[in-house]
Amino acid sequence: MKPFTAPLDDILFSLYALGADRIPDWDSDLVREVAGHFAAFAEGEIAPVDEEGDRVGAVLENGRVRMPPCFQPVYRSYVEQGWCGLTAPEAFGGQGMGAAVLGVTSEIFSGANISLQMVTGLVPGAIRTLMHFGTAAQQAQNIPPLAAGDWLATMCLTEPGAGSDLSRVRTRAVYEDGWKITGEKIFISGGDQDMSQGVFHLILARTSDDGIRGLSLFLARSERADGTRNAISVTRIEEKMGLHASPTCQLAFDGAEAELVGELGGGLKAMFTMMNHARLDVSLQGAALAARATDIARKYAADRVQGGRSIDQHADVARMLDDMDMLAIGGRGIAHLALVLLETGEAPGLVEALTPVAKVFCTDAASMAADLGIQVLGGYGYLREYRMEQIARDARITRIYEGANGIHALALVTRLARLGAPLDALADLAAERPDLLADWQAARSRVQALADPAPVATAFMGLTAELVHQIVWSRLRAAMSQHPDPHRIERLAAVAARRFPMAKTVFEAAL
Ligand SMILES: Cc1cc2nc3c(=O)[nH]c(=O)nc-3n(C[C@H](O)[C@H](O)[C@H](O)COP(=O)(O)OP(=O)(O)OC[C@H]3O[C@@H](n4cnc5c(N)ncnc54)[C@H](O)[C@@H]3O)c2cc1C
Repeated sequence: MKPFTAPLDDILFSLYALGADRIPDWDSDLVREVAGHFAAFAEGEIAPVDEEGDRVGAVLENGRVRMPPCFQPVYRSYVEQGWCGLTAPEAFGGQGMGAAVLGVTSEIFSGANISLQMVTGLVPGAIRTLMHFGTAAQQAQNIPPLAAGDWLATMCLTEPGAGSDLSRVRTRAVYEDGWKITGEKIFISGGDQDMSQGVFHLILARTSDDGIRGLSLFLARSERADGTRNAISVTRIEEKMGLHASPTCQLAFDGAEAELVGELGGGLKAMFTMMNHARLDVSLQGAALAARATDIARKYAADRVQGGRSIDQHADVARMLDDMDMLAIGGRGIAHLALVLLETGEAPGLVEALTPVAKVFCTDAASMAADLGIQVLGGYGYLREYRMEQIARDARITRIYEGANGIHALALVTRLARLGAPLDALADLAAERPDLLADWQAARSRVQALADPAPVATAFMGLTAELVHQIVWSRLRAAMSQHPDPHRIERLAAVAARRFPMAKTVFEAAL
């Protein structure tokens, strides 16, 4: 099995081509240095425990989650090297780096070991939430232990009756000498673990029966200030297709002590403010897994001889390898385009349109790349030995969590189409590809004329994602002289170009 190699050159090239230098205070030398350090850590320590983590899994013992023991020293290194506080403000013990730098390290982390990334990866979002909505006291009390790695974080939204539809959340918060939360949450990533001293939960709970306006955001810690355990218990961890080492917990809140974060009734608004970053994190998980699948497949295909030559010399295998590579690089590029705009703050409407597009494209790309990878490896792809099957299992959930891809497609043809401005901003962006813009605008008009656009939502998302993908490849191609292997970028750009007509045909067939 090929050891993990961080796709550092591809990542840094993509950021350059998609305009990261427009981000205030962007320092490409510093980013290269930070990324290089993290890549070495990921290659040397994080990736080597991935396989054992998948095999051993996280287990529930006497009401507490035990992580694969091989993760413990890696988490200690992660803490000692200060990665937990990468984006936390310096005033709270962090290093004050921006979201685009975090995008680089978390993509590398996901490619190396997505289960461990899942458990550690919610800390920056929790810190960001506290910085936006927390009081000064909440920030001072909670950010330092998060930045120091003493606590890891969760995001507790889902319930048995409330998945895509969070208006059905029933977990209640009542005020009686402080806020107390009672209810059941399911599928909570990192709901408990034994790597950090404590867990910091952000919880969506009901404070009135007024629909989504009755939902508020709370924080709760696994331990109270006096060191006793808060009334939050793990009632089970799910047995899953993949992400075996990421404990997906069912949590019971039984009058758990909590604090309101932000305004009463402002829970969903707070969640949505954080949503763009969370969705881009998942987009980069998808890009990471697609890139890892490509790396394993390219190495295998170069070494495997059949029919008198290595299999990468056979046209069909070469086609599959290039498709995988193109999906990984193109997906990452879409995520970087959105991330750069999110960080510069220059086009909020465009970010709103690009973020779900990135989420859908990258996560579909991960599954497609893993599937192609299995095919490239032949029978060995289906075996555990080369871990392509693990990538396929781990990648599959990214199309479901952080908004199922079908829900994002639906929002594109309903809410975003109704708003107008996000799709207008997308059209402005696409002015650099006038050859494609007319087709997309015609499709948009057809969708908007439909009494019920829901049945064509996924096909329109496919066409829209492909429009953005083509814009990204135009920019990558224009910048290719900056890549160590410009011929590869040129070749993959040509492969990508074939996809828009296909997406157009699929859209027209769906009408
Ligand atoms: C490994 C894992 C980790 C997770 N981590 C977390 C976590 O940390 N925190 C957390 O809160 N949750 C977490 N989740 C839950 C995840 O976010 C939900 O599974 C997701 O939101 C979808 O909800 P659901 O599973 O109830 O599916 P449903 O909402 O029942 O959806 C099922 C299908 O129906 C479609 N659908 C649903 N509603 C509509 C509609 N109105 N119109 C059209 N189609 C619709 C969806 O697109 C989907 O295809 C995790 C789940 C897993 C498996």
